[in-house]
Amino acid sequence: MKPIKKRLLTPGPTMVPERVLEALSRPTLYHRSPEFKEVFLETRQLLKRVLRTEGEVLILTSSGTGAMEAAVSNLFNPGDSAVVIVGGKFGQRWQELCQTYGVNPVVVEVEWGKSVKVEEVKRAIEENPGVKGVLVQICETSTGTVHDVRAIGELLKGYDDVLLIADGITAYGVYDIPTDQWGIDVAITGSQKALMTPPGLAVISLNGKAQERLEKVRDRSYYFNLRKEIKQQRKGQTAYTTATNLVVALNEALKMIDEEGLENVAKRHQILAEATREGVKALGLELLSENPANGVTAVKVPAGMDGQEIVRVAREEFGITIAGGQEHLKGKIFRLSHMGYVDMFDVLTGLEVTEFALKKLGYTSFDFGSSVRAAMELFSKKG
Ligand SMILES: *Cc1c(COP(=O)(O)O)cnc(C)c1O
Repeated sequence: MKPIKKRLLTPGPTMVPERVLEALSRPTLYHRSPEFKEVFLETRQLLKRVLRTEGEVLILTSSGTGAMEAAVSNLFNPGDSAVVIVGGKFGQRWQELCQTYGVNPVVVEVEWGKSVKVEEVKRAIEENPGVKGVLVQICETSTGTVHDVRAIGELLKGYDDVLLIADGITAYGVYDIPTDQWGIDVAITGSQKALMTPPGLAVISLNGKAQERLEKVRDRSYYFNLRKEIKQQRKGQTAYTTATNLVVALNEALKMIDEEGLENVAKRHQILAEATREGVKALGLELLSENPANGVTAVKVPAGMDGQEIVRVAREEFGITIAGGQEHLKGKIFRLSHMGYVDMFDVLTGLEVTEFALKKLGYTSFDFGSSVRAAMELFSKKG
C-alpha cells in the first residue's frame, strides 16, 4: 500500500500540534510592538515554569546549538578549562565548541549508550584544579541515554566556581526537571524537540551564579551576547529581530504544556517510553542504552542488518520518518522518538513500521504484531 500520509517520529524536529501551526500562521508581528512585547514576556514566564527556574530565561533566534555556543562563548574566558561529558554526538559538540573558543576541554569519555559516573566527574574536577564548568547533556539524544545531572548538581554544590551547564534539549518538556533545585546553573533547550514548535528558537536560562560569571567574561560574540540579551529581554525586547512568528507559536505550545500540567506531560512521556521499550523487546531486539531516556528510544539493529535500510524502508515505503544512528553507530541502531506532541497511537505506529520494515528486509524471527500487542498491554495497564 502506498503511504498517503507523512509522519514524523524523529528526535527533532518533532510533530507540531495543529494549535501551534495555527498560531504560526497568524500575521507577522513587529518585534518592537506592544502586542509582541506582551507575547514575548509571557513566553519567557511560561518557559520559567517548564524549566522550573527563577533564573533569567532568554530566547535566542537559532537552533539549539546556538544556545550551546552562547553558553561557551559567554561564560568562559580563553584558557579556562571545563569538564566535558562525551558519551555521544552532542557531548562531542560541547567539546568542539570549547575548542572553537579556546576553552580547554577536560573530557570524560563515556561509552556510547552508558551514563557518566559521578565519581568520574569528581575525579576530573579534582585532577584539574581551576576548572570553571561542567558541560553535560541531560539526555544524550544520539544514544537515547540519560545522564544523572541531579547527582552532578549535588556534587558541584561543593565547588563554588564551577558552573553546571546542562543541555536539556530533549529533556525539558519530557521530564519535570527542577532546574534550580538540582543546581543547574545554565539550562538549554530548543523549540523543535519536546516543546512542539518548529525549529528556529533556542532557550537558555542563567541563575545568579551564571550571571555573576557573565560579568567576568569579556565579550567574544557579537550576536549571542547574553549580557545584552538579558538587558533587552527583561523589557520584552530582543537585541535584534527575533523570529516573531515562532515566538507566537512557542507561546501556544507552552500553553498546551501548562494546560496538560508538567507532571502529566512527564508521566505521559514515561508511559510512552515504557511502551516503546516493551514493544521493541517483544521483537527480540535490544536497547542500546543502559539508562534509556523517556524522549527517544535507541534500538540495536539485528546482526547482519543495515539500520539505515530500516530507516529508508520506513520512510520510502510507509511515509514514516524515524532516525538512524550517528558516527560509529550509523547502521547499528535506529531511533524511535516519542517526545512532544505524541500519544499512544503514535507509539504504536512507530512499532508497526518497525515490524513492517524488519519483515521487508528479511528479519522474520519474531511474532508479527507482537510489539504492538506488548505496547497495548502496557497502555491498558498504565492508561
Ligand atoms: C537537538 C539537540 C541539540 C541541538 O541541535 P540543533 O540541531 O542545533 O537544534 C543539542 N543537544 C541535544 C541533546 C539535542 O538533542
